[in-house]
Amino acid sequence: MPHHTSLIAMLCVGFVLAFVFGLLATRLRLSPIVGYLLAGVLVGPHTPGFVGDQTLAPQLAEIGVILLMFGVGLHFSMRDLISVRKIAVPGALVQMGAATAMGWFLGTRLGWSDAEGLLFGLSLSVASTVVLLRALESARLLDSERGRIAVGWLVVEDLAMVLALVLVPALASNGGGSEDGGGVGAALMATLLKVGGFIALMLIVGRRVLPWMLERVAGTGSRELFTLFVLACAMGVAFGAAELFGVSFALGAFFAGMLLSESPFGHKAAEDSLPLRDAFAVLFFVSVGMLFDPGILVEQPLEVLETLAIIVIGKSVAAWAVVRMLGKSNEIALTIAASLAQIGEFSFILIGLGISLDVMSEGARDLVLAGAILSIMLNPLLFALLARRQQRRTTPPADSTIDAPPPMEHVLLVGYGRVGIKLAELLARDGVPFVVVDTDADRIASARAAGHQAVRGNAADDDVLAEAQPEHAALAVLTLPDPLEAGKVVQRLKSGTSPIPVLARAHSDAAVKHLLERGADAAIVAEHAIAHSLSEMVMAAPPYRRMRAAPQRT
Ligand code: AMP
Repeated sequence: MPHHTSLIAMLCVGFVLAFVFGLLATRLRLSPIVGYLLAGVLVGPHTPGFVGDQTLAPQLAEIGVILLMFGVGLHFSMRDLISVRKIAVPGALVQMGAATAMGWFLGTRLGWSDAEGLLFGLSLSVASTVVLLRALESARLLDSERGRIAVGWLVVEDLAMVLALVLVPALASNGGGSEDGGGVGAALMATLLKVGGFIALMLIVGRRVLPWMLERVAGTGSRELFTLFVLACAMGVAFGAAELFGVSFALGAFFAGMLLSESPFGHKAAEDSLPLRDAFAVLFFVSVGMLFDPGILVEQPLEVLETLAIIVIGKSVAAWAVVRMLGKSNEIALTIAASLAQIGEFSFILIGLGISLDVMSEGARDLVLAGAILSIMLNPLLFALLARRQQRRTTPPADSTIDAPPPMEHVLLVGYGRVGIKLAELLARDGVPFVVVDTDADRIASARAAGHQAVRGNAADDDVLAEAQPEHAALAVLTLPDPLEAGKVVQRLKSGTSPIPVLARAHSDAAVKHLLERGADAAIVAEHAIAHSLSEMVMAAPPYRRMRAAPQRT
């Protein structure tokens, strides 16, 4: 292949194969990441056929890392972290310590050096943000207490990793052969100073300048410039951090994201950078797959299984034990253990570093890659087992039962978010009895605190719906954002022995059509309702008020 087209070839083949395998994986109910990794294995040197450019792949992967870390920064919230710190901090530290120790132990058995074993263990200790967020999202746990604990826990792991990425090179460059501990100490000090300098600069100058600039750029009203600024920020700060401070790209990008997220436009910045982030994250997984030699599954099956056991069993037991010791329920402990029983992007970054520093061997890398691919594949299964276990339990969780029987002729109010809360207020003001249903534990708690009757759970679930006694309801209002789910609920409500009128919220004409086809009696597009309210206001303005009183006189 002519060299000048190798970047194009790499991008084309990477995207196309990643898409095909990602789709296949999704169809098989696996994480699409598994598909991307397999696509990488296919274009890697260990399998026949097209072989991607192995000097370009790592650079594309690095862009993926920068954008991924930028995204982690954008979503990082100090407040969320502080609210769960009592569990997340000790939990993450104990779990990381346990995983590192187990990895090191396996390493010594395999005759590796201490440094290699420790780095191997450390790379098994940190879970993948991408995998975790997807899992929590599909289990509808993202906004729950356990979801927040798991995310906070992961943030602590990420922060520890960012620190490790900075410290490992310092330790390795001097730790290797030198006899005097002073060399290590000096290198560490120098690194810490540089990192400290970078962080101070970001917190003192960047914190003011970046959000300020973001707002100015937003003020230009150009969508394109806004997106461009967000990207320039992510890449620019990452590059600057590496060039000027010798700090990793990852740390720079993380800070850029964190500082931008403090601006009121942070949310939009996150949205705008998402497509590019997704695209390069995919290339990151493809290029990691390229490194993987599937031969290891046949040559060292036992070691692969042991690595997998550390990730899936060892780490889970440690996490479960910490959460239980800190007084949380078994359910919460199990969810958190399952969420973190996988490894991903940070492990790949760390082993890449280990290899470039000559601390780690390719054998160790292949074990980590095998462990990652297998644990990511197993993760949805763990969640499915967990869900089945919860369904089997005879006693429902205390917060999922309704506190008193619903009144007759009540309104069934499904969804207690922005729309539901407002509607509840209006109904309560007019003395209309209603029962709230929502998946989110916090929302349910606040509904109860406001004196409303509430059922927690997915309304598309028969048992949950039954608790709200639709047979005694006068009508139902669905304020769920997802039309497919809302459609399911409509069907349930309409297929019972005593169907009730159903009103639904929608976001598009297509959603309205879908809901009406499922049997809803009316569906309102939120944006149309806004237009109506605004037109009322316009018509209330002095010059037009008369037009309304005396319409259409021509
Ligand atoms: P909002 O978009 O702010 O009006 O919020 C929608 C609300 O609906 C949130 O509180 C969600 O937790 C809730 N919700 C979403 N899906 C379901 C579901 N399947 N069953 C019950 N509540 C849901």
